[in-house]
Amino acid sequence: SSKWARAMAILREFEEKCGTPDAKLKQVADAMTVEMHAGLASEGGSKLKMLITYVDNLPTGDEAGVFYALDLGGTNFRVLRVQLGGKDGGIVHQEFAEASIPPNLMVGTSEALFDYIAAELAKFVAEEEEKFQKPPGKQRELGFTFSFPVMQTSINSGTIMRWTKGFSIDDAVGQDVVGELTKAMKRKGVDMRVSALVNDTVGTLAGGKYTHNDVAVAVILGTGTNAAYVERVQAIPKWHGPVPKSGEMVINMEWGNFRSSHLPLTQYDHALDTNSLNPGDQIFEKMTSGMYLGEILRRVLLRVAEEAGIFGDEVPPKLKSPFVLRTPDMSAMHHDTSSDLRVVGDKLKDILEISNTSLKTRRLVVELCNIVATRGARLAAAGVLGILKKMGRDTPRQGGPEKTVVAMDGGLYEHYTEYRTCLENTLKELLGDELATSIVFEHSNDGSGIGAALLAASNSMYL
Ligand code: ADP
Ligand code: MG
Repeated sequence: SSKWARAMAILREFEEKCGTPDAKLKQVADAMTVEMHAGLASEGGSKLKMLITYVDNLPTGDEAGVFYALDLGGTNFRVLRVQLGGKDGGIVHQEFAEASIPPNLMVGTSEALFDYIAAELAKFVAEEEEKFQKPPGKQRELGFTFSFPVMQTSINSGTIMRWTKGFSIDDAVGQDVVGELTKAMKRKGVDMRVSALVNDTVGTLAGGKYTHNDVAVAVILGTGTNAAYVERVQAIPKWHGPVPKSGEMVINMEWGNFRSSHLPLTQYDHALDTNSLNPGDQIFEKMTSGMYLGEILRRVLLRVAEEAGIFGDEVPPKLKSPFVLRTPDMSAMHHDTSSDLRVVGDKLKDILEISNTSLKTRRLVVELCNIVATRGARLAAAGVLGILKKMGRDTPRQGGPEKTVVAMDGGLYEHYTEYRTCLENTLKELLGDELATSIVFEHSNDGSGIGAALLAASNSMYL
């Protein structure tokens, strides 16, 4: 029927616009490398902030003692207590508590957000077992993972540059995030010192390195996306501080804000961006990360409903509601292996209130999931290639290739198997056979929290 012809035409057009042939991905990777150079050359020199983290040493394995971590970066936050065993002792003990951030606090005031966090921290500390308690006069120490763009001024201070991932708290911008947390902890009676302020990518890098010495890059694919890597200080023209003994500095790329004319942007991406809390920002993130993939899918489905009427003469009202279709649901539909695509049918019914869908319709939905996820995963792979190029690890070396482990974390990477597999296969494809085995992805489970605790330990005031 003409209805189906129209639906297929929309699908094919979308597929074509989302195309990421290898040649295009190589252009994206090259553009990423160019922007990395520009961001390292001068402050504000690129869309990539290439932030100095003040982390010039990654964990050695000698870290010892009980440390806390607080991980705030999206919809949930976690509080951790970690006991480090010292030389070769590893992680002796770890426990955590998790809470979600009430949506109103994501767009409220700085005080309200940090009071809420400090109150949760107070609860966690109140349940501390005696054996973990500090001797009188000694303060607890905390590594604070804060996964938004921060201009750091030291290992444990830095100002919030802007919000991402659905947060928008105007009065916090320009404030020292450690200062805000410390004031809130005082108000809530928590006796704790923030010893390290880290991005989740930096925490993941540190946590990854602790277990795997070849870790040199970390990538987060969760609500948002970002990456960090170890750079030579000599290659950071904008750094005018002392050269650390290691000669190295971890760089928080803030790659979610990457943008290039080579990115395959569609009308749906433009509309999503225009209607977002941060129009014009985080374009790479909006094409690749968990907060947005389901929303892109919803926008395409809405157009198919409006123009081809595949869900009946009336457009299902739910389909018009931004962000109703979440990436975990998209992922569940994409992974549906039942012969009648039952999961797809159930999701369409439960979330969008569209019942009695035909198998043909369900197949179309799965195909759209695949297009959106494939584009995101392949672009993320191109981003990793850009980093490897910058590090000079994208070509075989004499005497065999150097092994590079990329520490990965985030709910999208962890749970969306099709996405993860596509990302990993794409990088291998781009690198070629000779290098494919020397670049390894490793899931660094909870690395960002443990990494923050490790960095709190190596920056302890009692050392
Ligand atoms: P954050 O990025 O907020 O710190 P996570 O790393 O836990 O937190 O990532 C959570 C995000 O991961 C969710 O917002 C969602 O987009 C994505 N996600 C979680 N579960 C799944 C899933 N089963 N399939 C696909 N994406 C998922
Ligand atoms: Mg996180």
